[in-house]
Amino acid sequence: MLEDLFKVVKFRAEGDNRTEKKAKVQIPDDLLFKCPRCGNVMFMDDFTGASKVCGECSYHARLTAWERLELTADEGSFVEYDSEMISKNPIEFEGYAEKQQELREKTGLKDAVLTGECRIRDKHCVIIIMDARYMMASMGSVVGEKVTRAFERATEKRLPVVAFTASGGARMQEGIVSLMQMVKTSAAVVRHSEAGLLYITVLTDPTTGGVTASFASQGDIIIAEPKVLVGFAGRRVIEGTIKQRLPDDFQSAEFLLEHGFADMVVHRKNLRRTLSRLIRLHTPKEGCQ
Ligand SMILES: [Zn+2]
Repeated sequence: MLEDLFKVVKFRAEGDNRTEKKAKVQIPDDLLFKCPRCGNVMFMDDFTGASKVCGECSYHARLTAWERLELTADEGSFVEYDSEMISKNPIEFEGYAEKQQELREKTGLKDAVLTGECRIRDKHCVIIIMDARYMMASMGSVVGEKVTRAFERATEKRLPVVAFTASGGARMQEGIVSLMQMVKTSAAVVRHSEAGLLYITVLTDPTTGGVTASFASQGDIIIAEPKVLVGFAGRRVIEGTIKQRLPDDFQSAEFLLEHGFADMVVHRKNLRRTLSRLIRLHTPKEGCQ
């Protein structure tokens, strides 16, 4: 029955004449979700109720930064940092300013990362959440600066950091300024670490390029959501360089776990509890929080 409903929506979208009659039955386009991995069809309410995870194959769909925050932080506990920070156009890249304006209106974000303080099951921490809708969460000057400031504040306040990473890598439209963010964020992570504080990374789909090569890989504990794509360069680039075929599961969360680049693969439904337990274990004294 679900499959039939989905067909109606699909045919209507494609303008198929056969379904003109059926299409009069008002079914909003966002009523159903079809899993891109296994083809399972779910009512959108059920899908969102399951934190956007497919009930059949556990496909973890991408979340917006706000959705991720809602799933992770205690209600009403979030205090945002640097909410008004926006990037200039440092190398005067054509069309960059317009593109940013369009995305700000579409996503409600000023750039590709949300930072601030919150509580996760009452554990106080600094949280960093990247949003792939915004230029594939590429790291330009604002992303780098917000991440750096988040770590600096966490160091100052002696708070743990939880970072949900997702990124296509460096932001080409900002040229060398973008690449500089890798060393800047990495240095801030090291200062936080040298102060004896906990940093947990949660790798979400996709985490690649300059973000993988900087703060995404520096967590004391690195968690990944199941089957997410994590890598530096793309498969074709690597295969072309080393002239070898790579394994099918190369750059998946499970491959990372098997080879020691991740510590845990955690289903989204267990993530909040896992994070709070880890924070509790590593900040045993209430006074440290
Ligand atoms: Zn599925």
